[in-house]
Amino acid sequence: MTKCSRRNIFKIAGAGSLALLAPTFALKNQGSAWAQDNALDPEDPQAKALGYVEHYDDVDQAVWARYEAGQQCSNCQLAQGDVTADWMNCGIFPGKQVAKKGWCNAWVQRQG
Ligand code: SF4
Repeated sequence: MTKCSRRNIFKIAGAGSLALLAPTFALKNQGSAWAQDNALDPEDPQAKALGYVEHYDDVDQAVWARYEAGQQCSNCQLAQGDVTADWMNCGIFPGKQVAKKGWCNAWVQRQG
């Protein structure tokens, strides 16, 4: 019979905790990989038509006069999901992820 010492209880609890955390870590990494695989290509015809860029520094202000400093995907009303993440969903580009510091000509000030 196994001796049920305090040390054994901590060993079992520690192993159990790691077993619970491992799938969470795997899912988190999988989510990141999914975001990268589904990143909106700025060369996509619809993205190009709206002047989408992955970083607001790259907005061609001679072409996209609506752009104003401070506008980016993370503060756009059309961004969906976790707007603090590096990549997020967008109502304009279903199934694709847009960059946190991205921008396009459909930008609308996020409310609330
Ligand atoms: S609509 Fe908003 S969230 Fe979507 S790409 Fe344009 S600026 Fe970013």
